[in-house]
Amino acid sequence: MDSYMTEEFLREYTYTGTDLGAVWSKESTTFRVWAPMAQRTEVALYKSGTAGTDDRIKKYALKKEGQGVWSVTVEGDLHGIYYTYLITRNGAETEACDPYAKTTGVNGRRAMVIDLERTNPAGWKEDRCPHPELRYTDMVLYELHVRDFSMDESAGITPAYRGKFLAFTERGTRTAKGAATGLDYLRTLGITHLHLLPLYDYGSVDEARLNEPQFNWGYDPVNYNVPEGSYATDPYHGEVRVREMKQMVKALHDNGINVVMDVVYNHVYDAESFCFNRIVPGYFSRMNADGSYSNGSYCGNDTASERPMVRKYIVDSVLYWVKEYHIDGFRFDLVGLLDVETINKITETVHAKYPHVIFYGEGWSMNTSVPEGVALATQRNAEKTPAFAYFSDNIRDLLAGRNGGSLGFVSGQSGCEEEVRACFLAQEDWCPKPSQTVNYVSCHDNYTLFDKLRLTRPHASMEELVRMNKLAAAVYILAQGIPFLHAGEEFLRMKENEAGEIIENSYNASDYVNRLRWSDLEKQVYAEVSAYYRGLLAFRKKHAVLRMAAADEAAANIRYHKVSDGVVLFELAGRDCVKGEVSDGMVVIFNASTAAKKIGLCEYGASEGQWKVYINGRYAGTEVLDIVTKDTVTAEPVSALVLVRER
Ligand code: CA
Repeated sequence: MDSYMTEEFLREYTYTGTDLGAVWSKESTTFRVWAPMAQRTEVALYKSGTAGTDDRIKKYALKKEGQGVWSVTVEGDLHGIYYTYLITRNGAETEACDPYAKTTGVNGRRAMVIDLERTNPAGWKEDRCPHPELRYTDMVLYELHVRDFSMDESAGITPAYRGKFLAFTERGTRTAKGAATGLDYLRTLGITHLHLLPLYDYGSVDEARLNEPQFNWGYDPVNYNVPEGSYATDPYHGEVRVREMKQMVKALHDNGINVVMDVVYNHVYDAESFCFNRIVPGYFSRMNADGSYSNGSYCGNDTASERPMVRKYIVDSVLYWVKEYHIDGFRFDLVGLLDVETINKITETVHAKYPHVIFYGEGWSMNTSVPEGVALATQRNAEKTPAFAYFSDNIRDLLAGRNGGSLGFVSGQSGCEEEVRACFLAQEDWCPKPSQTVNYVSCHDNYTLFDKLRLTRPHASMEELVRMNKLAAAVYILAQGIPFLHAGEEFLRMKENEAGEIIENSYNASDYVNRLRWSDLEKQVYAEVSAYYRGLLAFRKKHAVLRMAAADEAAANIRYHKVSDGVVLFELAGRDCVKGEVSDGMVVIFNASTAAKKIGLCEYGASEGQWKVYINGRYAGTEVLDIVTKDTVTAEPVSALVLVRER
């Protein structure tokens, strides 16, 4: 039996207060820590945030308060003072950072007392989510790493801001030949949410050596409630990272873009040294029966989210990012390791006050040591977490093929028609609800879409590869669900090293491999593909019938037909069925075959009359490309064709 889950432990040591951490006021600061196993607890105050520096000011003993909580109030304005906890257990003293630290010094070893008001950029009190009205299926997610955005010189970002939060605050940046980059590019793309890879303090980049080349995605949390120091212009002074991250959020909001944070509550950088585990031994992490750490994450440890004080910690953390940093959404890494109760507690708590916040994650089923009866937040359990959406690996694998070199619908795999139907309608066996289905074809993991296509179709021409790419985009952007783009996918992003080798897993590869190559947008074919994505997103936005939230709505308003091998047709209802719809009906054709296909619309139940073409193999958007008055249309090889009937 888990000694932390006995009735007695739960009764004696479950704390429900919202005041853990260092609570600052002008007159005094109260330090409060949950340390039920401790014999003595002290807080040590320091001048600097650099661990190992001999600059302790003083230490104060904390008093036992009950429920395992200890506290002490220290007089004076402590803003800018660093601190750690000294926990004595079985006669031995351990020093630990505060799990509830709001900011830290370099590398996250010492917490800092902070008056958060002093970090607010101008206008922060008035800062709001720019699109509070959007339902999940109205959203468009764009996944990006902070460094990838601005490290390439062609971005034209101020050198001091490259790789930093502040790169997102610059307007008017251009490539040498005048292509818009950075924020100027993002704001016209048609995305609603910028999803940023980990922004919290992680361990795999040494913040004290930022003059040396370092790169990591950051899936290795050290301090959950603290921004990462390497993204700040100064990682040594705790207030800087807080202020600059807020400046980033504010600039994105001012430009109409919501901010999603990638959160990794499923494991920590190092279980032994993680501050929570140093204060309460092993409490944060799941153990196997033999005393080793449970390792479903393949990262050395899994989080014991089912333990009440871990659950509370995660809920508090998410709510903190929403309140303090105005974060509009969360992507949960390996959420299948967290329990359903924790996820529902998060979505209910946040949505009670912030209903616009989106939650989604990787619901893969993984092997982790949980007590019997604990349900995990996997795709298969999607019904149990109704406000949480899951990545659809079905559509990803369908379009470009599974890992390991197989082909997909757009690259020549035959016999996919039924899967295209299921994906287009968001009728997965694990979840029939569009609002819980995140549709994508590539993300930071694995090959980029263009790399995947050129690797699996080595003899295809550039033109053929571009056709495949565009068709893949058309399927998942027009499908029911929530579209998710990997940054740069829309301008044929490749991950190649200096030797020209394609890199599949670039988590710690160089900036050279990972950066967005903005100068590519100066080349016609790249700019055309980007414009095609922009057009698809604009078209999706205009038509509510592409953004239905409920399973029965999608089923009732879309009819599927297989035309022939590799060719499918969907007939979508118009204004009578969907509130706010502008059209009288729509026909969406995906031709994955390498031959042009003549299709008689009436044959598939589409009514006669005038049809306007908005999307074909070449262009996509909200402007009419062609008007069809005859019954027969031709779908070009490997392309989408979308027609709308308008009164
Ligand atoms: Ca860090």
